[in-house]
Amino acid sequence: MSQDPGGEDCGMDCDDAIEHLYTFLDGELTPGVRDEIQKHLAGCHGCFGHYEFERAFLRFLEARCQAQAAPAHLRRRVFERILLDESGSTS
Ligand SMILES: [Zn+2]
Repeated sequence: MSQDPGGEDCGMDCDDAIEHLYTFLDGELTPGVRDEIQKHLAGCHGCFGHYEFERAFLRFLEARCQAQAAPAHLRRRVFERILLDESGSTS
């Protein structure tokens, strides 16, 4: 299985995709760049894995912030829900 070493004219390579990944997750990209990243993620397993991981991590942080004032059993439910969500995510 030989990978095409960036010979394809698809605009964005892995370095670019990773570089913009966090901005992408923040939703702060221009629609054009966002489109390029989405295209790259759809076709690149490595970067998609990266993206999934970062997304899960961000959501975990978000949920943790929301859950800080919540009682312990609720906090655990939130966390379990994230895990369920991530493992059962459909594409
Ligand atoms: Zn890639």
